[in-house]
Order: sequence, then C-alpha cells, then structure tokens
Amino acid sequence: RVVVVGSANVDLVVDVPRHPGGGETILGGDLRRSPGGKGANQAVGAARAGGAETTFVGAVGHDDSADLLLASLERGGVRTDLVARSAAPTGTALITVSPDGENAIVVAPGANSDVAIGAAQRERIAAADAVLAQLEVPLDVVLAAARARTRGVPMILNAAPSRDLPAELWTEIDVLVVNEHEAADLAGAGADAEMLAGALLARVPAVVVTLGGDGCLVAERGTQDCGPALVRVQPVRVDAVDTTGAGDTFCGVLAAALSRGATLPDAARLASAAGALAVTRPGAQDAVPSAAEVVALSEG
Ligand code: ADP
Repeated sequence: RVVVVGSANVDLVVDVPRHPGGGETILGGDLRRSPGGKGANQAVGAARAGGAETTFVGAVGHDDSADLLLASLERGGVRTDLVARSAAPTGTALITVSPDGENAIVVAPGANSDVAIGAAQRERIAAADAVLAQLEVPLDVVLAAARARTRGVPMILNAAPSRDLPAELWTEIDVLVVNEHEAADLAGAGADAEMLAGALLARVPAVVVTLGGDGCLVAERGTQDCGPALVRVQPVRVDAVDTTGAGDTFCGVLAAALSRGATLPDAARLASAAGALAVTRPGAQDAVPSAAEVVALSEG
C-alpha cells in the first residue's frame, strides 16, 4: 500500500510560435486541458504502472477541473476518498510550448495550498508500506506526512520543484529522488551525477538521480566496511514523443516497488522502464503505462 501526498493541477497547454515577452500578446494553437500536478501524476504512476493499492492525499476545489482530476485519478485506479475539497479553485498550470518543445509554465496553486494531514490521512499513512511526496504543496504538509508513517516504512521525497528544505525534513527522508538540476540545487556544485549523489548522501541514506534519456543513478550509503554503493541503471531505448510525466511515472513506480520490499536498484530498474514508456505517449496521467507493460519491458 502506497500513500502519495501532493498536488493536483489541471494543465492548460497552448502551442506558441515563441514565448511572449512582458506586455505582449501572442496567438497560439488550440487549448488542451489535461489532468496533471506532480502528486496526482505520481499517484496514477504508483497505482496503474506500479500496480500498488494507492491513496492520493491532496486537495481540489469545487469546479470542473476538480471533476476532471478526480475522474482521471479514479480511472488510474487511485483511491480518492482522502482528497479534500477546498474553497479555493483547483490548482492550474498555464503552459506554453514553443516549436523546439521548450515549456514555460506558471502554476496557480489554488487548492493545493489547502492540503492538510488530518486524522483520517494520518491513519492511512500509518498503514502504508511506502509514502511518497513532492514539493508542490506546503512543506509542513510533507513533514506531517513523513512523521505519520510507521517506523521503518520508506519516506520517498521527489524534491521537485526545487526549494530549500528545512533540517527537520531532511532527517525524515529515506530515499531522495531528483533530476540533475534539482540535485545541483540541493548539493551545490558537482561535476557529474556521481559527485552530486555522493554529496547528497551526507544528508540522506539513499539518492536516485534521474538522467532523462540516460537512465538513472542509484546511490546508497555504505556500511562501516565499505563505501557508498553506486549503481547506474541504463536507459531503455525508446522513441521519445513527449517527456511530460516521465519523472512522475518513475517516482510512482519506484514507491510501488519499494512498498513491496524491492531493493532500491531493482525498484529503479522497474521505474526506469515505466519512465521510458511514458515518454512514448503524449500527456502526463494519460501517458502512464500499465503494470503489465512495465514488467514486460523491464524483463524484455
Ligand atoms: P524529470 O522529468 O523529472 O526531469 P527525467 O527526464 O530524468 O525526469 O525522466 C525520469 C526517468 O524516465 C529517467 O530516469 C529515465 O529512466 C526515464 N526516461 C526519461 N526520458 C527518457 C528517454 N528519452 N528515453 C528513455 N527513458 C527515459
């Protein structure tokens, strides 16, 4: 059983010939509206691609966007009974995409600022075998979720988007998942993924650095006798169509595998196959593959 604590956003996406400057108006293509938000994406990743019984703890408003998100979560097999309804509008990401595929994104957090860990949420987290969070909701929510878990259950933090973490949160993290940019933001300078991961091992027992089309790096603290263990997980070769949601699918599947007691390198191999499948399809939650596809690709 996995509990994912985090954001739910509706993504409003428009293709533009170039991103507008200040004071400028630009005509773009047709508006696309799709379910997103790191928390909701990762919950669908854990449930659908990871095959784990998954609860999403988040908040939405009372609007059409809320209906769209709840329907997508339920279609993905996620339990939504602990999603709160806020008076604020559902979180919304305004995304423009230029012809070279570069995104410019503004997020209006709305209801995501009202996610709370109440008694019911604490109880579900205490019964979980893995807890997964990101940084699109208030830090005190992430901390409360971490503290509600049962001793020994892994707390997995995807430290995205980048922000400084308070000392009391650092000490709760069992597995930190970051891409190279986020790793550099947290670790300061570092020439490569190995050095960044090594620096982060001073603060957390295990780190996974995702490397896009280059796979990922798993780093775990060593014992007294031997130094840190570094495992490079090679990428699965695919034709990339849309990289949106790859990192979120990766995190969801990683948490699902860890909840079943997989080792971190094994969990990362499965997550990497899931991330690769996600980039072959457009969208975020819509691009999440099934658990059977993930297992088939990782064993292929
Ligand atoms: P983020 O979107 O958070 O920056 P990444 O782009 O690193 O995350 O993607 C997460 C994981 O998904 C990678 O570690 C890799 O396993 C897989 N992945 C992403 N892009 C590709 C790709 N082009 N080909 C194969 N696997 C990919």
